[in-house]
Amino acid sequence: MEELKCYMPKTLREALEIKAKVDVIPLAGGSDLMVSHKRTIGLTPVFEKPVMIIRNLPELRKIYVNDKGECCIGAGCTSAEIAENKLCPWHLRQAASRMGAIGLRNSATIAGNIANASPKGDTPGPLYLLDARVKISSLRGDREELVSDFIVKFRTIDLKSDELITEIIVPYSEDDFDYIFWHKVGTRKANAISKITVSQAIKFEKDGKTVKDYRVSATATGAKTNRSRDVEKLIIGKTIEPEIIEEVVNGFDQVISPRAMPEFRREATRRMIRRFLTEAAKHPKDKVIDTYEGYSMTGAPTPRS
Ligand SMILES: Cc1cc2nc3c(=O)[nH]c(=O)nc-3n(C[C@H](O)[C@H](O)[C@H](O)COP(=O)(O)OP(=O)(O)OC[C@H]3O[C@@H](n4cnc5c(N)ncnc54)[C@H](O)[C@@H]3O)c2cc1C
Repeated sequence: MEELKCYMPKTLREALEIKAKVDVIPLAGGSDLMVSHKRTIGLTPVFEKPVMIIRNLPELRKIYVNDKGECCIGAGCTSAEIAENKLCPWHLRQAASRMGAIGLRNSATIAGNIANASPKGDTPGPLYLLDARVKISSLRGDREELVSDFIVKFRTIDLKSDELITEIIVPYSEDDFDYIFWHKVGTRKANAISKITVSQAIKFEKDGKTVKDYRVSATATGAKTNRSRDVEKLIIGKTIEPEIIEEVVNGFDQVISPRAMPEFRREATRRMIRRFLTEAAKHPKDKVIDTYEGYSMTGAPTPRS
C-alpha cells in the first residue's frame, strides 16, 4: 500500500500554503476522524488522503474579546478549554462541559464539532442561538459566515478546498439576556451523545413584561440544528400569556423534523420551551432557569445525576 504523507505545519500561514497546494484532511483533535477512519482493533486508521495536523497551531488556540465586545474562540480550542473560560458565553460553556468524557473534552475542538456537521453535535445549539459566525481563512484572505449558514445540511459545510476554519466569533453572551436555559437530554449528564439539547434566552423591555428578545434552538431535532426566527417573533413585542406560550411551543414543533423526532423528543422539547417561558414570566431571582426541581422533561420523574 502506498504511504500517505502527514503534514505538521508550525504556523497558520504554513498550513494555508499546504491547503492551497495539496488536497489534505485537516486533523485537529482527531476524535471524529480517528473513529470514522478506524479499521479493526490493533490496526491504525487509514486515510484516503494526506493528513495535516493542525491541533497545535498557536494562532488557533486563543480565546479573547475583540474591540466590538465579541468573544473570539480559536478554531483549535478544546471543549475543556471553552468550558473553563469565563470569556466564553454561558450556553457554550454548558454545551462544552457536557461533551463526551473528560478525555474527549481535552481533545475535541470547536471547529471539529462544527465541521463534523452532525445534527447531534452539542456546540451548534448555543452557536445558532447567539448568532455566532465562523471565520474562514485561506491565502486569498478571510471571510465570515453565520454558523447556521456555514453548516449547509447533514454532514455538509461551506468550506472551499483551500480554506480552514480559524475562529468562531460569538456576538452575544448571557449578559444580553434576563433569563437563560440550556439542557441536554441524554442517558447520562455527560459522556452521552445527545438525544436532544435545547438552548433558550429571553430579554424583557424596561417595563419588565414585554418580550424584547427571545431565542430557542435545538440540536438532534432534524438534519441540522434548528432555530426559527419566525417562531421567536410570535412572542417578541408581547407579554407572556399561556396562549402565546402554546403558539411558540406549536410553532417550534412544526420546525423540527418529524423523521428525526420520536414523540418523546418532541414532547421533551415542548416541555422545555413551556417551562422556560412560564418561569421567565414569574421573574425569578436566578438568571439560569433550571430544568429540574420537580419538573420532568420526559413525563417520568427525572433524578439529578
Ligand atoms: C466517544 C465519543 C463521544 C463523543 N461525544 C460527543 C458529545 O457528547 N457531543 C458532541 O457534540 N460530540 C461528541 N463526539 C464527537 C466529537 O468528539 C466532536 O465532534 C469533536 O468536537 C470533533 O472535534 P475534533 O477536533 O476531534 O475533530 P477532528 O476529528 O480532528 O475533525 C473533524 C472534522 O473537522 C474538520 N476540521 C477540524 N478542524 C478544522 C478546521 N480548523 N478547519 C476546517 N476543518 C476542520 C476535519 O477535517 C474533520 O472533517 C464524540 C465522539 C466520540 C468518539
